Amino acid sequence: MEFGSWNLGCLMAKAKPRVCVVGSSNIDLTFRTGRLPKSGETLSGESFQLGFGGKGANQAVMAARLGAQTTIITKVGRDVFGERTVHNYREHGVNTAYVLNNEHHATGVAAIMVDDDGQNCIIVVPGANQTLNAEDVHKGAAALQAADVLLCQLEVPLEAVLEAFRLARAAGVKTILNPAPARSLPEELLRLTDYCIPNEPEIEHLTGRTVTTPQEAAAAARMLLKRGPHTVIVTLGEWGALLLEGQRAVHIAAPQVKSVDTTGAGDAFIGALAVYLAEGLPLEQSVRRANTVGALSTTRPGTQSSFPTRVEADAFWATVVPPPQ
Ligand code: ADP
Repeated sequence: MEFGSWNLGCLMAKAKPRVCVVGSSNIDLTFRTGRLPKSGETLSGESFQLGFGGKGANQAVMAARLGAQTTIITKVGRDVFGERTVHNYREHGVNTAYVLNNEHHATGVAAIMVDDDGQNCIIVVPGANQTLNAEDVHKGAAALQAADVLLCQLEVPLEAVLEAFRLARAAGVKTILNPAPARSLPEELLRLTDYCIPNEPEIEHLTGRTVTTPQEAAAAARMLLKRGPHTVIVTLGEWGALLLEGQRAVHIAAPQVKSVDTTGAGDAFIGALAVYLAEGLPLEQSVRRANTVGALSTTRPGTQSSFPTRVEADAFWATVVPPPQ
């Protein structure tokens, strides 16, 4: 009897959703200073912080925080930042079997200087990220093909993203493309995309249309949808998201929160959406829930440090009254 109920419990227990990310890993070096230095000048700064970033890394960490079995296929240099990156993934439970090393390029890095007025200067050196190729993607093919959802951005070469999407489509794995940073895209990639998730500037770049309202987002999303994706979701900051599936456009509002730092909100939204879709939640509900995770992330400073855990996300969701249909 006891064995029987245990057995039933096992059968009923839902398998963990599986998310595979092919994307970038960066280290953010943030220097705070009274004012930005002039050419040739040396200044004494106020503080320094080392953070983990890269859109691929952020979205993988978000997915893992929400409880997905998460694998990232990424490339770092053989240096101390590469080691720290692997350590950070392990701390979050992200599978590091396909965190590959490049012998000739440093780990991707962003040097960010911020002055007391909030003005900034940034230098990004993509380094090893730029060397991720189709062969690397094949190394992680088994994990990719076993995933429920594949998630890619554009901070690694298109060659890698395209190959990942080809493998995923052939294996029946759902594909999510976050076309960030904005760039023009090959038509094949859009045809291999199930869910395309740009923010406002990104969809403006892809369609040439101005997007400042949910209505304009719907018009631009319709243009993008014609090029291949099954579904387009435009993130609209505090306004939430515009979902376009077939002919049906729905504006899904985000909950109102006291935002202190919106950095990484897009990555929180997309990582969360991947998990909810992988869990098999209906699309509209997945977007609603991803909105609450994105919103929650803006209530805390930092990027990965602002991402909620599953317990926090579920608790916040329970407080959100769904807006009337
Ligand atoms: P990105 O970070 O790529 O610019 P957005 O600014 O569109 O992306 O934010 C992504 C998601 O995060 C939004 O769709 C929304 O769910 C949530 N979000 C962002 N800013 C806010 C805000 N001020 N209030 C509530 N939710 C927000």
